[in-house]
Amino acid sequence: MFNKDLGQHILINPLVSQGIVDKAKLKQTDTVLEVGPGTGNLTVKILEQAKRVIACEADARLAAELTKRVQGGPFQHKLEIIHGDVMKQQLPFFDVCISNTPYQISSPLTFKLIFHRPIFRCAVLMFQREFALRLVARPGDSLYGRLSVNCQLYSKVSHVMSVGKNNFKPPPNVESSVVRIEPLDPPPPVDFEEWDGMVRIAFSRKNKTLAANFKSTATMQMLENNYKTYCAANEVMIEPDFDIKKKVIDVLTSLELAETRASKMDVVDFLKLLSAFHDADIHFC
Ligand code: SAM
Repeated sequence: MFNKDLGQHILINPLVSQGIVDKAKLKQTDTVLEVGPGTGNLTVKILEQAKRVIACEADARLAAELTKRVQGGPFQHKLEIIHGDVMKQQLPFFDVCISNTPYQISSPLTFKLIFHRPIFRCAVLMFQREFALRLVARPGDSLYGRLSVNCQLYSKVSHVMSVGKNNFKPPPNVESSVVRIEPLDPPPPVDFEEWDGMVRIAFSRKNKTLAANFKSTATMQMLENNYKTYCAANEVMIEPDFDIKKKVIDVLTSLELAETRASKMDVVDFLKLLSAFHDADIHFC
């Protein structure tokens, strides 16, 4: 009856649905984007509190079921259903996003939301527990990694609720958690491709030092090529004794980070490191 490929695990505990909506602290003037409304258990609770709900549902059968559920009721005029894959839509304006997220699209959906403009107030999203814990992990936590720093670069993210499997029909294989994401406004003025290029290298082998990760042959080759391209484009003279390895290690050493592991660095440390690399004309894409 439910389509596993679309991550259809319907929330059957109304207390959990209400808890999720409450965590969004909705205002009566809010437009809410709901991703994957399914049969509408969350939708009807959101409709009670918001001005408007735009719900994007990939499954035509469920979209029709939801249309029927609100038809003739007091909230019918407040609900717009978009039938389609949310990842293929240009998102409409919204103040708040609420979703019992189809787990297959957790990561792309998170970043689609984080990069959405204009910046929205908050997103309250249900994820698989491990994914949620990765988003909120802090330096030193075992699940801290690229996903954590990339999300925390652009938002304040907090764990708001644990949800057991039995609150869903059918129950998923793993436990779930609800997180609240508040995008930073204004966002940090960072070139994300540059940032992500550097962070990928830093976390390439999680338990190695930054110096060890940056010194890998493939990384050195890439950074040398980027450096030469940058110098050619900006008419910077390449020194006769130019040595990319020395240049990179000098940057790491100047910030006393050569022997540090990425798993112990927070967003501010990474921002300082990127800025120091750029001051040395070292680029990551
Ligand atoms: N919101 C409902 C609830 O809490 O009971 C259903 C949540 S269920 C975990 C995920 C829903 O997202 C399903 O209705 C599924 O059909 C829908 N869905 C899956 N992939 C989607 C996509 N790419 N775009 C939009 N909806 C999607």
